[in-house]
Amino acid sequence: MMMKLTFLGTSSGTPTRHRNVSGLAVQTVLGADWFLVDCGEGTQHRVLQTPLSLNDLAAVCITHVHGDHCYGLPGLLASAGMNKRTKPLRLIAPLPVWEWFEATRHLTDLHLPYEVEHVDLENQALVYEAPGVRIERHLLRHRVPSHAYRVQVETRRVRLKADALRAVGLPSGPAWRALQTGEDVPFNGDVLRSADYTETQVDTAAAVLGGDNAEPALLRDACQGAQLLVHEATFTQDALDKVGPGPMHSSARMLAEFAQAVEVPNLVLTHFSARHQNKEGLAALMAETQAQYRGHAFLANDLDVYELDSAGKLTVTGKIE
Ligand SMILES: [Zn+2]
Repeated sequence: MMMKLTFLGTSSGTPTRHRNVSGLAVQTVLGADWFLVDCGEGTQHRVLQTPLSLNDLAAVCITHVHGDHCYGLPGLLASAGMNKRTKPLRLIAPLPVWEWFEATRHLTDLHLPYEVEHVDLENQALVYEAPGVRIERHLLRHRVPSHAYRVQVETRRVRLKADALRAVGLPSGPAWRALQTGEDVPFNGDVLRSADYTETQVDTAAAVLGGDNAEPALLRDACQGAQLLVHEATFTQDALDKVGPGPMHSSARMLAEFAQAVEVPNLVLTHFSARHQNKEGLAALMAETQAQYRGHAFLANDLDVYELDSAGKLTVTGKIE
């Protein structure tokens, strides 16, 4: 596993009986740090149904200021404080989200025992960087500024060229481990150079996680080299035609056409209108998707867990009950 995604909310606008509003947890192979993309109201209750700890939450990425994507933020951050979190947390979000959070914090006498550091989206595309993890933001089209986050994970493993070491006669043991950690090793009056006897295997995985968006083609660059696109498909094309362009959302057909055009191998649809959440509605969304898209398509459910591996394969590994 390179990346693990847990859907915390998959309904658009309002929560329904089986689906909460938007929230998506992203874990990586690199360690316990995880990322939360959007934080609709009630997201912290969904987190409680998972093994995730708010102490390990490294950053919250908010796609846009609409309430179904951020109203859960003050509650979740307050609970992290009550749980004695001390590690600073990054809030990657449009400026109005930050201003609203600051106002709420002051007006409700919220004192957090940890730092919340705002990362503005305005002037930078690279919004998070840590060893092995990069998060970039990409602008979308919606009624307010909305963004997608492209999360890229990279692992490096140093492998010994065991056959070559056997050929020179170096016995396995501490000397092999020294070479693997980059040290040169004296042997038989010669020096074996680490660089000559090791090779680095680099694995990467990238996922594009969209906010609300009326124009999937804006993610053309973001999808280059990505193995997974997670994107809203609020309506079927029929329903979108009926509601008109006002709400500025995507249909499953628009999304699937785009995913096929950029040949992203895995597509997860989410953010469904309440009208499509019954069996027939979901089947219609899937039928529309499969009519256009030949990759692996999935419809997200709350508490579904997906894993993306280094070969670019996406697997549903389970549902948390
Ligand atoms: Zn929304």
